[in-house]
Amino acid sequence: MAPKTKKSGKKKSAKSASAASAGKDVVVAEKEDEAEKKDMTHAYAEDLKTDIYTDVNANPKALVHSAEWRKIMNGDPVEINPSVGHGLKIMTVDEWISRWKANERFPDCLSCGSTNTKEHHFSQTWCRGKKKFESETICCECHMWNWRSYADPDFLTPEEYDKLKWEKMVAEHARQLGDARLEDGEATSAQPREVAAA
Ligand SMILES: [Zn+2]
Repeated sequence: MAPKTKKSGKKKSAKSASAASAGKDVVVAEKEDEAEKKDMTHAYAEDLKTDIYTDVNANPKALVHSAEWRKIMNGDPVEINPSVGHGLKIMTVDEWISRWKANERFPDCLSCGSTNTKEHHFSQTWCRGKKKFESETICCECHMWNWRSYADPDFLTPEEYDKLKWEKMVAEHARQLGDARLEDGEATSAQPREVAAA
């Protein structure tokens, strides 16, 4: 009885392992189908593998708008949004940022906790299911800049991925050449041995 139980137990675990791996494939396929249907607006911030790096600054960390921000702080005129008019104008911070939109996924100010913020910089990069993103918002209450950035631990840019793939191919090619030489060497050294044996 005992060996039988052991045997069936083994069988079961082997079976469940293969079922689990098959199930995993199915789940991935379903996930991809779901992903096509659902709203992907904030997919960059889902299923995160590590912490989001955050930083609060008096000045924008992203290069975009940095020059304008300096002018606003100095009370110098900045360019009027082309959709509103043209030329330069001295603006308050609120006027300058009035056309920016909030990031609904990350509305809170990291400095004062207000959710009255506007995003001026956002980027996301996906490569083979791995992702990274950057977001920077300005708080309408305290005017601090909130930086958030994230990358999957094993994220590679398409360029880095191609470089690795190429290096692997070169290494594999070198290994194959080495194997071929080894086989040639064995063939030639085997021949005299046979002759000697005969
Ligand atoms: Zn704030």
